[in-house]
Amino acid sequence: MQPVHAEIVSIGEELLSSESETLDTNSVYITQQLGSIGVRVLYKSTVGDDEARITDVLRIALRRAQIVITTGGLGPTVDDMTRQAVAAATERTLIFEQALLDEIAEKFARFNARMSANNRIQALLPEGAVVINNPAGTAPGFYVDYDGALILSLPGVPREMKAMMTQTVIPLLRERLGAPRVIKTRILRTAGIGESHIDEQIGHLERLSNPTVGLNAHAGQTDIRVTARTDTEAEAQALIAAVEAEVRAKLGDHIFGVDKETLEQAFADAVAKAGLRVVVGELYTGSAIQRRLSKAHFPEGSIQYADSEVMAVLRDSAEGDLRAVAEHVAAALCAQYNANAALVVIAEADSSAMAVTNGSETRSRAYFYGTDTTAPDVPSGWAISMGWHLFKRLA
Ligand code: ATP
Repeated sequence: MQPVHAEIVSIGEELLSSESETLDTNSVYITQQLGSIGVRVLYKSTVGDDEARITDVLRIALRRAQIVITTGGLGPTVDDMTRQAVAAATERTLIFEQALLDEIAEKFARFNARMSANNRIQALLPEGAVVINNPAGTAPGFYVDYDGALILSLPGVPREMKAMMTQTVIPLLRERLGAPRVIKTRILRTAGIGESHIDEQIGHLERLSNPTVGLNAHAGQTDIRVTARTDTEAEAQALIAAVEAEVRAKLGDHIFGVDKETLEQAFADAVAKAGLRVVVGELYTGSAIQRRLSKAHFPEGSIQYADSEVMAVLRDSAEGDLRAVAEHVAAALCAQYNANAALVVIAEADSSAMAVTNGSETRSRAYFYGTDTTAPDVPSGWAISMGWHLFKRLA
């Protein structure tokens, strides 16, 4: 079976306006739901409440995706243009459905609300469309088959959209697509190597269609996500194992764990195996390293955190550029705290540096940034990441 791809079209002026605070969370939710049945989203488009523009976007979407899901613009007011645009893009007329209006009227009666004349618009559907029941509100959704593709229109209100996704859209797509019964993901977690270097090594795997291979980079850590979609567990495992073997052959030295394993714990395990006593020194990082390492379990006495006053004195007495200062402070901390390894990060207004040492070998880096206040997380992440890579070799 050819893989089926989707496009999500988020409709609403508020999604484009500089004054609005509405974030397009609908498309994130829909992407996750589609992922759970093995459908990849290749495009997301956002468009305002303009019939011609929505029609254009839908025409493009119908050319490049087999499933198009729209949210928003299904209300009864003049700026709700989705049903007209779907009709235009699928070359149909809008038909008034009395039965649908009766259902809407019945809902209003049940909610004790007064239905206005313009709610009649919500009973207009593109010819041949099938209604998607809205269990959480009055605006019905609908879907239309068009030229080998399926276009599904849902309201913008997240609570309503979600109920319709889980109750109708996902079961419908499962039935239509014979969605794979097994979707299995394995995450290979790497540290001490940058995303671009990983990409150089395994770029060819990122172009596979089953399993798919994707990278997700954080400071000092890159996750390689391998996802297989098949009919049986054994097939999925075999597909993943083949890719994992190839990734390990190229990058094994940098893989610290899989799935839910954390860099913090891998770091602590490397410290334990090597029998190190590590001192961590941070200056102006908001204790970023300490906060992360406190999530891991270290052997008694194997880790200590330098006093910030000691750090300030050592920083002031060191000379050279910030990277040289970080290296110097790392060595000085080992002596002062009777440790044989150190992690150091010094953050300043527009730059920072990290250094890790195991006494005989030292690695360091400098970073330059503007006023980004989360920036100390970058050298701190790299300090743990490079620390793990350096210490595990002593184990
Ligand atoms: P209604 O019947 O309420 O008019 P509708 O289908 O016309 O439904 P919109 O008017 O476009 O939907 O949006 C209703 C509300 O839903 C918006 O005010 C906004 O808060 C929220 N919303 C719309 N689109 C999105 C989106 N893509 N992501 C998150 N929230 C959204």
